[in-house]
Amino acid sequence: MKNNCVFCAIAAGEIPCFKVYEDDLVLAYLDINPFAEGHTLVIPKEHSTGILDTSPETLREMIVRVQKVAARLKDVLPCDGFNILQNNGPAAGQTVPHLHFHIVPRLGSDVAADISFANHPGDMDHLKALAERLRF
Ligand code: 5GP
Ligand code: ZN
Repeated sequence: MKNNCVFCAIAAGEIPCFKVYEDDLVLAYLDINPFAEGHTLVIPKEHSTGILDTSPETLREMIVRVQKVAARLKDVLPCDGFNILQNNGPAAGQTVPHLHFHIVPRLGSDVAADISFANHPGDMDHLKALAERLRF
């Protein structure tokens, strides 16, 4: 695995993912430990660890992709709102040191529920079927 980075390996197709969207710059796929139905990660294909070592150009392009994917999630899922999260460094809860934006769809009935970074492993068959519905 190049540079020992799991998300680089996913971007290179060496590790499978439940893909939602892909273009020349980014890949978006379901988080395998979803905080909520449709929890999606958007990563740049090129490795950087977080906000500070990513070029302004890439960040600008990334946020437009995050917007596109969020719009897709909102169109397909029951989704009253969504959180965009992006952790920098272990102290902030970052566990995978490759830049990624979390998009977490939320329902009105969830409003009081805290997002927890504890692992909640998803059901792989469900994630596969969900990614097929969401892919665009
Ligand atoms: P962080 O805490 O670094 O912001 O978030 C990393 C996220 O990546 C976690 O929510 C975790 O569930 C997810 N994750 C870790 N390894 C994999 C993987 O191999 N595939 C997918 N789809 N998600 C992963
Ligand atoms: Zn990487």
